[in-house]
Amino acid sequence: MNEFQVEFVFAIAYWLFAVCFIAPPDAFRNGGLTVQNLFDKFLGSEQMDFVGYHLRRTTITVVCHSALPLGYHLVGGVVSENLNLFNLCYSGLIVQAYFAVAVCALFLGCCVASFWSWNNWMYHPLAKVLGSFNGPWRATASSVNIEFRRIDKFCSRTSTGGSRIYVTDSWVIKTSAYRVDLAHQQNVHLRILQAEEHPMSIETQTAVQFLWIEVQSINVAVKPFTLRVNSTEYGDIKDKLQSPIRNARSVVIHQTLSDQFLKAFKEQVTINQPYFLPSDAPEPERCVGCMAQVSNIKLMKMCRDPTDGDCQQCFCRPMWCLDCMGKWFASRQEQSQPETWMGSSAPCPTCRAKFCLLDVCVIPNVHDTANGTNQS
Ligand SMILES: [Zn+2]
Ligand SMILES: [Zn+2]
Ligand SMILES: [Zn+2]
Repeated sequence: MNEFQVEFVFAIAYWLFAVCFIAPPDAFRNGGLTVQNLFDKFLGSEQMDFVGYHLRRTTITVVCHSALPLGYHLVGGVVSENLNLFNLCYSGLIVQAYFAVAVCALFLGCCVASFWSWNNWMYHPLAKVLGSFNGPWRATASSVNIEFRRIDKFCSRTSTGGSRIYVTDSWVIKTSAYRVDLAHQQNVHLRILQAEEHPMSIETQTAVQFLWIEVQSINVAVKPFTLRVNSTEYGDIKDKLQSPIRNARSVVIHQTLSDQFLKAFKEQVTINQPYFLPSDAPEPERCVGCMAQVSNIKLMKMCRDPTDGDCQQCFCRPMWCLDCMGKWFASRQEQSQPETWMGSSAPCPTCRAKFCLLDVCVIPNVHDTANGTNQS
């Protein structure tokens, strides 16, 4: 390799490293060269001191990233001696100009960092947002910390370019490289902006949909921010949020595999022949699966399999509701081959007699029966 090629390869390698350092891919996150891993000791524990951790992390990130242009100059000087990078009087105008810009970038980064950390972090944007709620910012910070330690918070599994989403009992939080967006649950408006479809993802091997949810707070100090949520996590985040997520544009949300199956299962069962309880039969009790709904499913061998398949007659009394029976059926299938589920069979949860989708019969008006009203 000649001198020029060395410089070229070095330039590509350095800036590739810089990109991975600024926005690490998920594969790099654990043990990779990231600000979090490099300054692990200094940053402390996110779990114990969430606000303090992110005050330090965002500030260090600004300094590290602003040092990247100067780092290129210095490392380049070592790699290629004849560029005279360490002897600026002999190097060209472009090199001198680059050096000046790189030093300015680092200087600016350090200025921002010292401004943020000045007077015990009082001027950090996160401290200012925290201060916009009732009471001093440190008091709000400690209440955020306490809630963050709870295990029942929502925590996004995937992160996009170092960004992560958390929803605690009263806060919606998004952390990104230089910022932490935070809004109080009681005064936010949420709406789905758009859906982003990916036919296939390296991590999941299936189609992925991301939903862009805008968080707007009544508090003017909180700037609106967007959450990018995997549609499979949508149910979890919705459960944790107190206010509804508006879907004005009627974005079609792709559910999880089991949600999709449960829908198809119910559709099939409703066109199956219903089962009417004999008049002397006891009233169905609550479903033994969920204890919430009244049992409204009876398994009857209805399929006319010419080969006399392996479906058997189940003699159990109704003990399950439609939802629980659907979930049970799905749980007994080959999880890696969802295309076979609809045509497959499962054992009765009680007596183990095999049944297929055609053998699941709904007991109509089961609520009336459960309430004591006789049906014909
Ligand atoms: Zn149930
Ligand atoms: Zn049975
Ligand atoms: Zn059958």
